[in-house]
Amino acid sequence: MKRPIYMDNAATTRVDPRVVDAMLPYFTESYGNASSRNHAFGWEAEEAVEVARRRLASLLGCEPRELTFVSGATESINLALKGVTAAYASKGRHVVTTAIEHPAVLDSTKSLEKEGVEVTYLPVDAEGRVAMDRLEAALRPDTVLVSVILGNNETGVVQSVSAIGDLCRSKEVLFHTDATQAVGKMPVDVAELSCDLLSCSAHKFHGPKGVGVLFSKRRSPRVRLRPLIDGGGHESGVRSGTLPVPAIVGMGRAAELARVAVEEGEPARIAALRDELETRLLQLPGVVRNTPPDGRLPHILNVSFQELEGESLLLGLRDVAVSSGSACASASLDPSHVLIALGRKPELARSALRLSLSRFTTEEEVEAVAESVAATVTELRRLRRQHHS
Ligand SMILES: *Cc1c(COP(=O)(O)O)cnc(C)c1O
Repeated sequence: MKRPIYMDNAATTRVDPRVVDAMLPYFTESYGNASSRNHAFGWEAEEAVEVARRRLASLLGCEPRELTFVSGATESINLALKGVTAAYASKGRHVVTTAIEHPAVLDSTKSLEKEGVEVTYLPVDAEGRVAMDRLEAALRPDTVLVSVILGNNETGVVQSVSAIGDLCRSKEVLFHTDATQAVGKMPVDVAELSCDLLSCSAHKFHGPKGVGVLFSKRRSPRVRLRPLIDGGGHESGVRSGTLPVPAIVGMGRAAELARVAVEEGEPARIAALRDELETRLLQLPGVVRNTPPDGRLPHILNVSFQELEGESLLLGLRDVAVSSGSACASASLDPSHVLIALGRKPELARSALRLSLSRFTTEEEVEAVAESVAATVTELRRLRRQHHS
């Protein structure tokens, strides 16, 4: 077994070797610009991009032309939120989202607030779920967009996105979901979810970093978007810039692998490993589970340890790559906004440990991590008792 053990797959995943193989020819052989219309190099690159677009469309249950390639989920989310609010400014300037979104959403809404857009942040219950009656009460005639995360990146809680989407549709409000953590881990179908926009990123499902897509509905309703990036008019004018063909090819291959993996039961295998880890960690003294017992993603487990510091936990777990809360916020010592929204006390939120598994996680690794966490927690508790006596 290789050390350190990687259990931070919610931050990013290992690129599947089959994805790398698919990408390689597009660096050194078929290296054309997908917009070059006058020679074979360009045609080849364009064809490869369209194959990737079809593979992603097949994974998400949409039409290929409803997908815009962007640099990742952060850009996809920025384009959805800022692009929609700008295009629909004459309808209204009110957006609804939740308290447990990824910073890509929350920092985008903060930026919109500075421009005069009003934003409602829906609270969640102790498991991290939005109440439908709170959402319904928040919708107004001037609401242009609702954005709700499908599977949370810190706790793994899954929202009833289909019900949310249906409600938005009945009120003629556009609905965006951040599906970055869910794609490849559960069936994600835009029609079933009743969403008008959806964001995801290749590197969260064993594709390369630096590429993602925005799904935006083309018919009933046709979603209008103001571009964030202007230039050569690529991607139907929604997102200019030379397409990163190798990365797009990689995302397409990763999507194809993810579609087959979900069909063949990979999520259940990962969930079984997560359950084993959970059973072992829940036996430790003073442990609090932040991940709900059901309605959750298969690969994330988040637990807190009473009276222990997250920092010292991470220091003790030197041979295991895990995260306290989320990678995105780990530069700050603030307790996770997600755990605070669930009603956890700041001390408890600060002792959170997020373990996230993947296609490549083995049983042996799960056992070693469970032992390592148990040993570290026991040792820290012993030191604490010594210190207090
Ligand atoms: C990782 C992540 C993002 C950001 O994705 P990038 O590809 O890093 O831009 C957004 N939302 C969620 C839920 C994520 O897990």
